[in-house]
Amino acid sequence: MIIKPILEKLFGNYYKEYDFIKKSYDILKDFGFNEDNSIASVCICRDEISQTVRSHVKRMWGEAFNFSSLAGLFTAGKTGMRAFISHAPQVDGRERYVFYAFSHIAIDENENMGVCKRKGLEKSHACGALCLFQGELLNGKINIRLDEEDIEESILKRRLLRELKYGEVPDLLSLTKLTLKVIIEDLENIIEKVVDKNKADYALISGIQIHGPQENYIIPDESYVVITGEKKKISI
Ligand SMILES: [Zn+2]
Repeated sequence: MIIKPILEKLFGNYYKEYDFIKKSYDILKDFGFNEDNSIASVCICRDEISQTVRSHVKRMWGEAFNFSSLAGLFTAGKTGMRAFISHAPQVDGRERYVFYAFSHIAIDENENMGVCKRKGLEKSHACGALCLFQGELLNGKINIRLDEEDIEESILKRRLLRELKYGEVPDLLSLTKLTLKVIIEDLENIIEKVVDKNKADYALISGIQIHGPQENYIIPDESYVVITGEKKKISI
C-alpha cells in the first residue's frame, strides 16, 4: 500500500493497529499483567473510526473502561479514575491497571493530513474536533467561552490553547502530537493523585492512531510500566 512509505517517511516506526495492541499485551505479560489480573482502559476520540482500537483491547484484555472524549482528551477526572480503579481485580494482594491513550489523525494516499473516507462518504475528516479548532486558529477568532451545549469541544480548545504560543497556528499533525502530549499529561496528573502505588501496578501505552486509506495504524509514543512504585520505560 502507498500509505506505508508515507508513514515510514513521517514517523519511522509504525504498526498495524492490531499488531501494536498485541505487542503491548505480550510485553505487559512479561511484567505480570494479564487478562485475569488486570483491568484495561482506553482514552481515545469518540470517532467511530477510532473504535477499532477498543475492539483489539477487548479481544486481549476483556472489556475496557472508557475514558474517551472528543479528540481523546482525558476529561473523566478523579471521579472517573476512582471508578476505574475500584473495578480492578484484586489478585495476590495487588491491583493492575492498563491505560491505552491515543490521539488520532487521518492521512490519505496523497499525504493529505486529516482526510479520510467513511462508509458512504467519499471525503471526510479526522480528527474533526481538532480540525474545527485549527480552523478557528486560522481565522484568528477563537471562542473560548465554556459552552454548556458544547462542553467537550470548549474544554479541548481551552486546554490546547494553554500549550500554544500567542498567534501560533500548528498544522494538523503538530496539533495531533500536541493533543497526545496533553492527554498523557492530564492522565498522569490524575493517576498521580488517585492511584495508590503501594497497592497497584500500572502501565501506560500511548501513541497516535493513524487512519490510512485501508486500515488503522499506530505510531508508538511513550510507554512504561510502574511496578511497586518503580517506573520502567518499555519500547514498542
Ligand atoms: Zn477525533
